[in-house]
Amino acid sequence: MKIPFNRPYVTGREHGYIQAAIDQAHLSGNGAFSKRCQAWLEERLGAPKALLVHSCTAGLEMAAVLADIGPGDEVIMPSYTFVSTANAFVLRGATPVFVDVREDTFNLDERLIEAAITPRTKAIVPVHYAGVGCDMDAIMAIAERHGLIVIEDAAQALMADWKGRPLGSFGHMAAFSFHETKNVISGEGGALIVNDPAMVERAEIIREKGTNRSQFLRGQVDKYTWVDVGSSFLPSDILAAFLWAQLEQADAITADRLALWDRYHEALAPLEAKGLLRRPRVPAEARHNAHMYQVILPDGETRDRVLEALNAEGVNAVFHYVPLHSAPAGQHFGRAHGPMDATRMAGDRLLRLPLWLGLGAGLDHVVERLEAHLTKERVA
Ligand SMILES: *Cc1c(COP(=O)(O)O)cnc(C)c1O
Repeated sequence: MKIPFNRPYVTGREHGYIQAAIDQAHLSGNGAFSKRCQAWLEERLGAPKALLVHSCTAGLEMAAVLADIGPGDEVIMPSYTFVSTANAFVLRGATPVFVDVREDTFNLDERLIEAAITPRTKAIVPVHYAGVGCDMDAIMAIAERHGLIVIEDAAQALMADWKGRPLGSFGHMAAFSFHETKNVISGEGGALIVNDPAMVERAEIIREKGTNRSQFLRGQVDKYTWVDVGSSFLPSDILAAFLWAQLEQADAITADRLALWDRYHEALAPLEAKGLLRRPRVPAEARHNAHMYQVILPDGETRDRVLEALNAEGVNAVFHYVPLHSAPAGQHFGRAHGPMDATRMAGDRLLRLPLWLGLGAGLDHVVERLEAHLTKERVA
């Protein structure tokens, strides 16, 4: 039985909407489907502005420009994250300052942030790992005390919340991903959420190659011209049509993923009781979105052997991340603040299990094979 790690889910409405986008003959960015997607995000998040972009990476790059990040600035972030969290700021000449993650959620440890702040610190970038919220109350309070900008890397966090408030609605800005490995997808794709009303106008300009084209199209200025730095961050309305089919179903997609997540969680409880693995921990304040089901194995060697054994028999479990502070570019461009024990632990011992809509009975097979290998490890 071959079980891929991920299989992109399609709702069935994507073709029809793409055809409609073509019929409307507006194929570039910010057409009818883009506006629908943006309005949906603004409503769900209570945000003044949502802007579709090519990827979460592009959204983070825009956020770095909007936050006026430049050479010499420091940006506090976890090391246990995807490279784009750091790259977006390195591209502006800033230094990522890596802080350890919490041992329960693998989210930026809010208790360690303040000690990493220097006069050069400009921003904090919390990552909501696995769609489980960071402690946004604590992080926003620290940012306020020190006059820092908060940019949420909410790549994995659509439809999840912290104390009943949606992730992506806390920071001055937030970036979501619609990459095919995320919950709601358009192949490649993302959105920049601008929660600070003072940044909205400039965000539109930066996305439109540094021009005031958006204002021009709304009749707010009588000619359109180059007014600021910028680039082309607008996805085609064809892509937005695909995304709209997914956003329409976002509640159902999340509910179905949560059902799979709960099945894993229940099936793996006895293995945790036997000390063979640790299941994900979700704080009471967080409502997650079942982006990921990941387990912590007893040590790094066990993780590597179990990973290899599962993949050898067609169960495509994976691991991530190589902590950024230990990667070649991370060592060159950034620095770690303090010990990184929880980060290293997650990098060494974490195993991600296949989780996609339609997995069905494959899930029981994954559990059965995982249990078999872990039991064998225990005996050996
Ligand atoms: C997926 C991911 C990204 C990158 O998203 P893209 O849309 O592929 O650019 C960034 N940060 C985190 C935490 C991610 O999981």
